[in-house]
Amino acid sequence: MAKVIPQLIAGQWRNCDHHEVIEVLDPATQQVLCLAPRATAEDIEDAIASAKTAQFSWRETPVSDRARLMLRYQHLLKEHHDEVAEILAKETGKNFADAKGDVWRGIEVVEQACNIASLMMGETVENVAREIDTASWIQPLGVCAGITPFNFPAMIPLWMFPLAIACGNSFVLKPSEQDPMTVNRLAELFIEAGAPAGLLQVLHGAREPVDALLTHPDIRAVSFVGSVPVGQHVYRTGTQHLKRVQAFAGAKNHMVIMPDAPKDQVLSNLVGASCGAAGQRCMAISVAVFVGESKQWIAELAEQMKGIQPGYWNDPAAAFGPLINPQAKQRVLRLIAEGKAEGAECLLDGSDCSVAGYPDGNWIGPTLFSGVTPKMSLYREEIFGPVLVCMEVDTLEQAIELVNNSPYGNGTSIFTRSGGAARHYQHAVEVGQVGINVPIPVPLPFFSFTGWKGSFYGDLHAYGKQAVRFYTETKTVTTRWFDDSPVSGPNMTIQLK
Ligand code: NAD
Repeated sequence: MAKVIPQLIAGQWRNCDHHEVIEVLDPATQQVLCLAPRATAEDIEDAIASAKTAQFSWRETPVSDRARLMLRYQHLLKEHHDEVAEILAKETGKNFADAKGDVWRGIEVVEQACNIASLMMGETVENVAREIDTASWIQPLGVCAGITPFNFPAMIPLWMFPLAIACGNSFVLKPSEQDPMTVNRLAELFIEAGAPAGLLQVLHGAREPVDALLTHPDIRAVSFVGSVPVGQHVYRTGTQHLKRVQAFAGAKNHMVIMPDAPKDQVLSNLVGASCGAAGQRCMAISVAVFVGESKQWIAELAEQMKGIQPGYWNDPAAAFGPLINPQAKQRVLRLIAEGKAEGAECLLDGSDCSVAGYPDGNWIGPTLFSGVTPKMSLYREEIFGPVLVCMEVDTLEQAIELVNNSPYGNGTSIFTRSGGAARHYQHAVEVGQVGINVPIPVPLPFFSFTGWKGSFYGDLHAYGKQAVRFYTETKTVTTRWFDDSPVSGPNMTIQLK
């Protein structure tokens, strides 16, 4: 009998045996791994009230002590790296190496949070007017909230709460209902690291707790990562309720392949970047744009993609895992069928895919289309599966026009030996994260994760300096100290002299 997992509320793991629940299924077998409770209105109120109380004392805690909590946390995460990755692999289906990468990319953000004192330094100018100085101070906001998707259940929550809390805030986290066990383990380790009670609250469920967080007057800022329609809903509702919101949404990432690019590098990078994690990455390459003669490599690409297969998370030969749920598989099957009906050429079809011993898994094999046009649903919709579509253009300018006409702007890459072509592409392309001979250019945490256009709603991005700005408020203090000189009468102008 599967167990109902608890929620972390007011510093206690609250038993939720009598809650309504959501089944969390192993995507390779459909076996129920656990039951995620649906947070009640009372849970949500308790969590926010406790987070508010906890923040009052946490904001007074010296910045070095806040950094020390993060140092202990990153140490514990490293110690438990493989154990967390195993939980993550079981509930997402990711292969073990990829699951470890998911945890590791989160740990790197916690490492960055250890550096919080330098990140929170303000600015000063002496003598802004005669004997008057101005300084800016960076102060925490209060209670912040995070809503995370299924596809990176360790990395994305770790983009959010460690930095927000290091800044002096408290945090209410609502992870995806499809893989909630990873976040519970991350939260247990945070408490083990010495986090004061109430700083981090974990609520489970689907849309209901999200809507409550978006409208609650005590939530100051909301970080969201997920699909476009939900991202737009979160951004609209949160800002309508006068909150600061950053919403990272869906993507359709293009790799532009110039004819002078190193062919072997191009092909192996394309296979990994399109099919890794079953294509369920917001930075996956889902469109390959072949410029000029590079289109001759498409047949060889199909051969290489044929050589990889999905499998169970602990199978070292598995290139990737199943899709997260049967509905996701059905969506990908529909898009493959529509692509064929709309006239694209299916060079490799993974629709009918099976894995020995796992007849009920949400498997889709590597799939490759050529002759795709911008009007086809294969191109317009985010597929989020191991499906790569190939398009052909004659010039780099046409490739740039194609990419810039896409409503999305999360990531892109160009493969070329020409510095001039690469420089032109990086400058002209309207996408927030560009790789030059790097297929998935996710910046490390000392930079920020900078999606653009329909892939992001807001202004300050995730992690790095921008996240510290997002989770804080700036206060400027202008100071004058009087000496004993005689007062020359009231100053009636706004100018400081
Ligand atoms: P999703 O939008 O279905 O869910 C995201 C979160 O929102 C979950 O916690 C879910 O419970 C909640 N939610 C779902 N429906 C809701 C509703 N109607 N109202 C309020 N909350 C709701 O996304 P997903 O399927 O879990 O994740 C995949 C999507 O996330 C893809 O589109 C992918 O591109 C995107 N993604 C984007 C980034 C990025 O950085 N841009 C990173 C990872 C994933």
